[in-house]
Amino acid sequence: MTTTVALAGSTGSIGTQTLEVVAAEPGRFEVVALGASGRNLDALVAQVEAIRPRVVAVADASTAADAQARLPGVEVRAGRDGLASLGSEADVCVNGVVGFAGLEVTLAALEAGKRLALANKESLIAGGPVVQRARRTPGAELVPIDSEHGAIHQCLRSRDELGPPRVARLVLTASGGPFRGRTAEQLAGVSVQDALAHPTWSMGPKITVDSSTLMNKGLEVIEAHELFGAPAGAHGVGIGFDEIDVVVHPQSIVHSMVTYTDGSTIAQLSMPTMHLPIGYALAWPDRLGTAFGAIDWTELSRLDFEPPDLGAFRCLALAYEAGRAGGLAPAWLSAANEVAVDAFLKGEIGWADIAGVCAAVLDRHDGAPADDVASVIDADRRARERARSVVRATSTRTTA
Ligand code: MG
Repeated sequence: MTTTVALAGSTGSIGTQTLEVVAAEPGRFEVVALGASGRNLDALVAQVEAIRPRVVAVADASTAADAQARLPGVEVRAGRDGLASLGSEADVCVNGVVGFAGLEVTLAALEAGKRLALANKESLIAGGPVVQRARRTPGAELVPIDSEHGAIHQCLRSRDELGPPRVARLVLTASGGPFRGRTAEQLAGVSVQDALAHPTWSMGPKITVDSSTLMNKGLEVIEAHELFGAPAGAHGVGIGFDEIDVVVHPQSIVHSMVTYTDGSTIAQLSMPTMHLPIGYALAWPDRLGTAFGAIDWTELSRLDFEPPDLGAFRCLALAYEAGRAGGLAPAWLSAANEVAVDAFLKGEIGWADIAGVCAAVLDRHDGAPADDVASVIDADRRARERARSVVRATSTRTTA
C-alpha cells in the first residue's frame, strides 16, 4: 500500500533529502503536498513540476501569489496557516521547517491524528507541554528524524516488543563539530566560515552553527527528554535530565545509545546520512529496502568516545539548565539561540557571544507556565526581543 506524504520545508536540506528517499523506492510513497517558506521559489516550482502534488503551501503570503501565477492548476495555500494545513493532508507529515516557524506544522499533524516525522526539533523544545497534549490525539504518533533520536527509537524497539521498560540511561552522541578539542581562548576568534565547516554532517547553516557551539546537542537533550523521558515509579526507573548523557564521538557512526538497568548498552550504527533516519520515519514500523548508510566494515577501523568540554562549550550546560527549569524556559533558550545564530551568520556578533546572548536571555525567563500555544508564541516573541537587545549591546561593544 502506498503511504502518502506531506512535506513541509521541501526546499531545505531535510526536504530535498526526503524527496531523494521517496524517489529511491518507487510506488511505496506518494508525495501529495509540498510546502516551503517561499525564500527559494524557483526550487519549489521545480519540485512541484517534477512531483505534481495536489497541494502546495508557501509560508510567505506575498510570494504565494507569485507561486500561484507560476503554477496554474495547482492549489497554492498562503501563509503560516497554509503551511500548517499540510499537517492533515497525508498519512505522514514530514516537518523539515527550520526553527520556531515549524510549531504550527507539528501541532497540525498531531492534532489531525497523523504520523509526524519530525526534523524540526525547535517546535518540540519550545512547545513541549503543548506538543505533548497534541501527541495524545488518537492516531497521532511522533517518529523523530533527528538522527540521535531516531537511533534511540530503534534501540528501544525491543523494549516495546518485549514488555516493561528497564531503561537506565540515554546516551546521545555528538560529533563535537568543527571545534572539538579547542580551548575557550582558541575559540574566541573563529569565523563564520570555520563554524560552517562541519567535519561529518552536511546540513543547513542554522543547525551547523548549533553543532559548532554544542547548542544542537543541548537542544537534543531537551528533545530526548520530551520524546523518551519517563517519571520514576511505573517500573521503578525514570528518565529525567540526570539520566541523559552526552558523549563526543567524532566519527558520527554510533548515532546514540540506550543503557539498560543490567548495564547492557544497545547502540544504533550507520554512516552519517540523514537518508536513513528520514526513511526510518517514513517506513516505520516497517523498514526501507534501500540500505542508506550501510557500513563497510573493511573500511571502519575505530570508534572514539570522549566527554564534552562544558567549559569551552557553554551552550550545552545552558540547555540542561533550561530543560531542568522546564515550562517555557526551553522556548526562551531556543528563541535566543535562533536570534544569536542569525546575528553571528550576519557578522554582528562573534561565535563566543552566542552563549553569552543565550545566557543573558535565559536569566530573564520568568517561570511562566506553558499553558497553550499563545503562551508559547508570547514567550518566543519576548525572548527574541530580549535577545535582539543583547545582540545590539554586544555588537556595539565589539565594534567600539
Ligand atoms: Mg541530530
